[in-house]
Amino acid sequence: MDVRLDDKIMLVTGASTGIGRAIAEQAARSGAAVAINYLSSQSEAESLKAQIDEERGTCCLVKGDVSDEEEVLRIFSETAEKLGRAPDCLVNNAGSMIGRSPIAEMETAVWDRVYAVNMRSVFLCCRRALKTMIPNRSGVIINISSIGAYTGGGPGSTAYASTKGAMNTFTMGLAREVAPYNIRVMAVGPGVIETPFHDKFTTPERRGAFEKMIPLGRVGRPEDIAPMVILLASDLSSFTTAHHFDITGGM
Ligand code: NAP
Repeated sequence: MDVRLDDKIMLVTGASTGIGRAIAEQAARSGAAVAINYLSSQSEAESLKAQIDEERGTCCLVKGDVSDEEEVLRIFSETAEKLGRAPDCLVNNAGSMIGRSPIAEMETAVWDRVYAVNMRSVFLCCRRALKTMIPNRSGVIINISSIGAYTGGGPGSTAYASTKGAMNTFTMGLAREVAPYNIRVMAVGPGVIETPFHDKFTTPERRGAFEKMIPLGRVGRPEDIAPMVILLASDLSSFTTAHHFDITGGM
């Protein structure tokens, strides 16, 4: 079975590092033209573009904050300018814990930022993507959720985990809203994946404990998540929508 994304335009948010980077890489190898969104990791985004160029894939960089309405509009118009048309496939991957804090001590501004980066961004990007997907009667949206949606997250990550619960609910509702237009919406929920996310937010002690908690005996790699996203984005999955797919090593 050959999983191909030829002739598709895919926008991956937060694709400079980690899971988004692996998705962008694999999508380009599968034939998609990929818009690589990033915010602050410019050199990482540029190195990804250079790598895809070297492999003779097609991609462009679109810098911008996906939690900001104006920037989202610009990200989409730049994608269309640079790759020839609006995305057929949107991967809402950008996300951050912002910081760990128990709810009893959390500042309102931090709560708002957690929701802006992880959930408002998804609403803004989906709404903009649907402006072209609905008239085209075609499109795929994949939201990168988390196992935290079910567990409530680890210490100090309740706010972040709750955005992923909201994301799963949003995925189901939106999938049913747009199914009549032949647009599919799904979520992929990673377990513990070794990315810069944990460099920022997880202590070495806790990282060491993860392996013991995972039945398959190792933490995941970004490359463990990308294939599911590519399969769901492809036409082989044309009867699949309104589902969450968790990739956790059995957690
Ligand atoms: P990561 O390496 O830190 O990647 C996060 C990406 O999001 C970066 O490219 C970052 O861009 C981007 N980003 C953050 N805020 C942004 C904003 N406002 N606008 C645009 N881009 C923004 O972490 P990751 O682990 O790959 O995370 C990717 C997704 O997987 C997230 O949604 C995360 O919640 C989810 N996830 C991760 C794990 C895990 O164990 N790693 C588990 C479950 C779910 P810059 O660096 O360019 O600023």
